[in-house]
Amino acid sequence: ANYDEYLGTVKDHANNVIEYVGDKISYFGNGNTLEPGYVWKNPHYDEETISQLLTKLDTPLYPEDQVNKTRTKQIYLDNLNLYRDTMSKEIDEPQVEDLVRSSESNFNAGNAVPATILSLVRNEDLKELVQSIKQIEEKFNAKFNYPYTFLNDEEFSEEFKEVIIHLLPSEREVRFGKISEEDWNIPESVDKEKYKQGVELLDSEDVSYAKMESYHNMCRFYSRSFYRHPLLKDIKYTWRLEPGVKFYCDIDYDIFKFMADHNKIYGYVLNLYDSPQSIKSLWKDTREFLQKNSDYINEQGSFDWIKENMQKSINFNITEGYSSCHFWTNFEIANLDFLRSEPYEAYMDFLESKGGFYYERWGDAPVRSLALGLFADKSQIHWFRDIGYTHFPYTNCPNSAKCDNRCTPGSFTPWDNLEIENCQATWMKYSMTDDELNLY
Ligand code: GDP
Ligand code: MN
Repeated sequence: ANYDEYLGTVKDHANNVIEYVGDKISYFGNGNTLEPGYVWKNPHYDEETISQLLTKLDTPLYPEDQVNKTRTKQIYLDNLNLYRDTMSKEIDEPQVEDLVRSSESNFNAGNAVPATILSLVRNEDLKELVQSIKQIEEKFNAKFNYPYTFLNDEEFSEEFKEVIIHLLPSEREVRFGKISEEDWNIPESVDKEKYKQGVELLDSEDVSYAKMESYHNMCRFYSRSFYRHPLLKDIKYTWRLEPGVKFYCDIDYDIFKFMADHNKIYGYVLNLYDSPQSIKSLWKDTREFLQKNSDYINEQGSFDWIKENMQKSINFNITEGYSSCHFWTNFEIANLDFLRSEPYEAYMDFLESKGGFYYERWGDAPVRSLALGLFADKSQIHWFRDIGYTHFPYTNCPNSAKCDNRCTPGSFTPWDNLEIENCQATWMKYSMTDDELNLY
């Protein structure tokens, strides 16, 4: 194969390749030595507490009679200003004492954080994936040597594997895995006629990818199964990487160590509104789940962010009660202990029983975000302001000497009419403490 097409400079070959295609697999890492980053303890709420929590989740952030065009515009402009002010401030790294600088803590060392960079990709995504890997290596992973895990619903081609292996240095561990049909394919339980009608409607409403079955599969897989893949058995933290994304800023500390040492269960960079047509019943169904499983609700959840009904009140109306604000999961650093916990898994089983991954086009991003907003303490969710990142058409670009000049600080999108899709200010106002806002 001709690798020059993919590689600027060819590096050594990675020797440590693991493949999962069936039942047999060997495991690396020492996943049992680290404290779990998340353990669910049943709070056994009394009835009054439950009723208060459910009432809170039924109450819009702004009284409905205050929601009108003038007020919406005013709040949107306030939010835009808050976002731009915040992003214009010069930052460096998180101001904490214990950043870990080198690979002394890396995966194969004694005090390892069992973590991997994770990518669900198709063979045809190779070229764009190489661009993403080159940047995450340059800005972060060349210093920290975390392994890569690639998953696919089909076999990876020899070309795919060879190009990836030749791209990475020899010490880098690389895992290639296949996803089981059960985890990937549309389940038997889905009513095919109802599915067909559902996607016709969504397509007529211009919901992107509505007619693409593989996209529904992908959203369901990233919502409810990826963290149970055999290749992730000993892994506690995943950093999701997509083809064609950009990284702009040097990350000179161990991100995974930061997550572990600061008790974070989720790291994100972009916070957006979703297409409300794609999740019409998600909130109603979630509300039903919470009614039956109230003990899963975390009293420190991000309720105001879920119930924000002003900047895009139309989204809140279409979903009947959810702002549609979500963490954009194409970048996510997740503590898998949270995803493997009883509340998250029970929620996934419930959502699966509702069929909305197919009858509608529920994305893994709103699903993950609602789970986090409801079951997680908001202080365990971290905005990595310092990670300059673009997944087209949205960008997180800090004002920092660590960034190259390929992004403009504070510029969220090249198109003015998409600025309103930014939900970061709402997160800042309702889910971050002053200490957290001043961490950088
Ligand atoms: P978007 O970011 O929502 O526009 O969706 P993408 O097309 O980027 O898909 C999200 C992620 O899932 C990317 O990493 C894709 O490579 C991956 N992906 C999407 N569809 C498939 C599929 O059918 N098979 C595999 N193996 N990966 C997929
Ligand atoms: Mn993408």
